[in-house]
Amino acid sequence: MLSVNPANGAQMGRFEPWDDSRIESALAQAGEAAPAWAKLHMAERARFLQGAARVLREREPEFSRLITEEMGKLISEASAEIEKCAKVCDYYAAEAERFLTDEVLASDASRSLVAWQPLGTVLAVMPWNFPFWQVFRFAAPALMAGNTALLKHASNVPRCALAIESVFEAAGFPRGVFRTLMIGASQVEGVIRDRRVHAVTLTGSEPAGRAVAAVAGEVLKKTVLELGGSDPFVVLEDADLELTVEQAVASRYMNAGQSCIAAKRFVVVEPVAETFLEQFREAVRALRPGDPMDESTTLAPMARGDLRDALHAQVHESVKHGAQVLEGGQPVEGKGNWYQASILDGVGPGMPAYEEEMFGPVAAILRARDEDDAVRIANDTRFGLGGSVWSRDAARGEAVARRLACGCAFVNGLVKSDPRLPFGGIKDSGYGRELSLLGIREFVNAKTVWIR
Ligand code: NDP
Repeated sequence: MLSVNPANGAQMGRFEPWDDSRIESALAQAGEAAPAWAKLHMAERARFLQGAARVLREREPEFSRLITEEMGKLISEASAEIEKCAKVCDYYAAEAERFLTDEVLASDASRSLVAWQPLGTVLAVMPWNFPFWQVFRFAAPALMAGNTALLKHASNVPRCALAIESVFEAAGFPRGVFRTLMIGASQVEGVIRDRRVHAVTLTGSEPAGRAVAAVAGEVLKKTVLELGGSDPFVVLEDADLELTVEQAVASRYMNAGQSCIAAKRFVVVEPVAETFLEQFREAVRALRPGDPMDESTTLAPMARGDLRDALHAQVHESVKHGAQVLEGGQPVEGKGNWYQASILDGVGPGMPAYEEEMFGPVAAILRARDEDDAVRIANDTRFGLGGSVWSRDAARGEAVARRLACGCAFVNGLVKSDPRLPFGGIKDSGYGRELSLLGIREFVNAKTVWIR
């Protein structure tokens, strides 16, 4: 496992994957910690989680720097990510008790209710694109519900993986409640099969999701999958173009385009297509690639060279099938994993830019005749994570949002996650929900209790 700075290729660390005996000892620790952690009163678990939020805030500069060095995002984005992690800890520390209070229901019993009880130990297989946030988004609710957690992080962010474990240690969590496993993808199957592991959550690519869910299915363990998407960004003729263009650029090029809920397909109705494109191109040309540690940089490198090469192959193939390059369209020579901020016009069926997820700074423009045609194109994808619609008429926007086949539809705002709102997808974007009340109820046993 190598830690390499994506901006310049410098090697920052090297870690050997654990052998079986180290994995066994971490599994044993998590298993042993589980009963006592589950028995703690919710208020006590909340105090630990508040401690984690405190550690995150105190060490924010160190963690932000680490994220930027290890996966390349802009330092301001890394800093915002750490604060968001602290917020999700605050949120579940405050709300978990209310979310998991017994639900008394009328029946033929003198008293019947649903008690929400922890499952045991949950394995989280996580990606590198939001190396802290993806983990805390899962860990805050799972731990508050009384589960213990094991983290298998992406192999290109090993130092983030260890830093996250250190947050829980520094916050005084009992030994074994949160453990990082330094393992490769091929070692995940054995962990899922272990009897001390009760459920799995994965955020990442579709093949990884299918592989993990197949093993978990065989041993009948609950899974939640968040597998990325190809979110439509639907621009109607009455959109506020200034706001729309500003948010289009933020949504597509933030984190060098490496976000599951980034706008990827810009579905623009013909009457505004030329004006939108003119303004969008100008804003994209103004993006400034450079040192991600420098606050004035506005375009980051991609996280890994192979991801950059895969993106370029998708661009190349799309152009071969008729897409036109309006901006960029090429990798940048030299050290680091840079790709030009790019726009492809005339994207249509059969092209990777239409059919696949483009996980990098490339916007695909798809022209639609009118609102109905835009909805048809927006939904013409195997993915179904998020989507946004842009119109000055909020009621019209809502009506279109309701027609989008996805898990999170936004009107006049870029798709983002918020601890207070459910987050997740449909179709090949996965299943289950994170965050909010729904997120904390994924890894619990909804136990019916009936008393004569
Ligand atoms: P992966 O899906 O391969 O990696 C995500 C996590 O899954 C990592 O921890 C990885 O471990 C693990 N993993 C991969 N394959 C398996 C497997 N067969 N069994 C168990 N665990 C597995 O993503 P990549 O980093 O390779 O990125 C490739 C593409 O995935 C991107 O271009 C993008 O399309 C999508 N992606 C989507 C994300 C999202 O937010 N939804 C986030 C990241 C990527 P290891 O690193 O050791 O291989």
